[in-house]
Amino acid sequence: MELVIVKTYEVKAVEQRSATVQNQLMVLANHLIANEFLASYNPNSPYKLESHEIIEAELDMLSNLYEGRVMIIGPNYKVILDTYNISEGRTMISEEVVKCFRGENITNYDGEHGYIEMTTPIVSTTDADNTVQGVMLTSISDQTITSTMRSLNRNAMAFEIITIVMVVTFSFIVSGMLTGPFERITKAIAELKAGYSNDPISVKSYTETVHISDAFNQLQSRMKTVDDSRKEFVSNVSHELKTPLTSMKVLADSLIAQPDAPAELYREFMEDIASEIDRENSIITDLLALTKMDMSKQELNITSVNIGDLAEIILKRLRPIARKKDIELTLEEKREVIADVDEVKMSLIMTNLVENAIKYNKEHGSVTVTLDSDFQNFIFTVGDSGCGIPEESLPFIFDRFYRVDKSHSREIGGTGLGLAITRSAVLLHRGTIGVVSEEGTGSTFTVTIPLNYTGA
Ligand code: ADP
Repeated sequence: MELVIVKTYEVKAVEQRSATVQNQLMVLANHLIANEFLASYNPNSPYKLESHEIIEAELDMLSNLYEGRVMIIGPNYKVILDTYNISEGRTMISEEVVKCFRGENITNYDGEHGYIEMTTPIVSTTDADNTVQGVMLTSISDQTITSTMRSLNRNAMAFEIITIVMVVTFSFIVSGMLTGPFERITKAIAELKAGYSNDPISVKSYTETVHISDAFNQLQSRMKTVDDSRKEFVSNVSHELKTPLTSMKVLADSLIAQPDAPAELYREFMEDIASEIDRENSIITDLLALTKMDMSKQELNITSVNIGDLAEIILKRLRPIARKKDIELTLEEKREVIADVDEVKMSLIMTNLVENAIKYNKEHGSVTVTLDSDFQNFIFTVGDSGCGIPEESLPFIFDRFYRVDKSHSREIGGTGLGLAITRSAVLLHRGTIGVVSEEGTGSTFTVTIPLNYTGA
């Protein structure tokens, strides 16, 4: 850049300077013609015409002013006048002079030696054909141009250095400003990773950082929910598994404490221990079913199943249990439903819901299973005339280990995992499950599942 500025100045300055000098030389050339200088001037003559002296003075002034040398060359290439008084009388045949006689004006700039050389034709104004009668060969110093260029060079360099420094500083400041907020986010995330705090991060510098912070906070809160539910699940599992063990331990200890307890007591306690073992077993079975359900997302064995037939088989299987409480089991099949489902999981859903409807029913109650479909889904409902579910418990009944009445549920063998398993199986089929219930009147569970399985 510096070079371009200086070079442009140099070209312009040389052009300007030569044009000024050339103008003055032209004026002088006219004087020469007017006074017939070329024909009448004799440098060695002691008596000079006044007009010649004036011209000499003008030439001296010009050469002094521009620190230059002017030579006036006559028609026979003889130097008539040289302001340096060196070459007078000599013959000067140079390319420039010859060309000038032919009418070409030449301006040469020799930057290396610091001078501008130019030729000016001395043309007779009275001649019709404008013949060149003589040539003025002028060389002037470019001292002022070079000194200006030198200082221009210095200025340009200083300007360039200042610009570079400013650009670098500016880039540093801007990049610091741009990356600062992201570094703060990284730091905040690193702190969370190291476990110093669990606070949500907040970097409000840019819209992007706000989005990143929000997304990260949401992710963190989701992770926290997952982590909390995992902890809760583990603690629930431990608790549920421990309860039967504690009972067994109490029963066994009390037998040990009585060395001569009667055989009936032994029998009674052993029966209790056996039922606790059954309970432990059913909890473990349910837990395994639940974890299997979580893992087998990809492993659904989808086939075309007649849902009505499946419901009938399940009701038939459960009828003996219902009969114990004199509960009437009915199936209302509004239309034939054939759907793409995993038969084992579908029968698990139905069994769990009907089993609950029987379990939480009163003596001589009723359970009604209905089956219907629209274009996309089939709807399976299980309604009972049981104890119903309190409104405040409704949001939790699908949670693992949640039981409305712990002692009652335990009495009838509930693990609190049945509905959680049912819901997982329904979700695997991309379906929904809901419940409406009124305490003391009964509950109705509604399962909606797409007729055609759409994949994971
Ligand atoms: P459980 O093994 O205890 O039956 P579930 O997950 O199947 O566990 O049910 C959770 C709780 O929901 C039950 O403990 C019971 O209190 C309540 N519940 C489930 N189904 C019914 C129903 N049909 N009528 C009333 N309460 C029910």
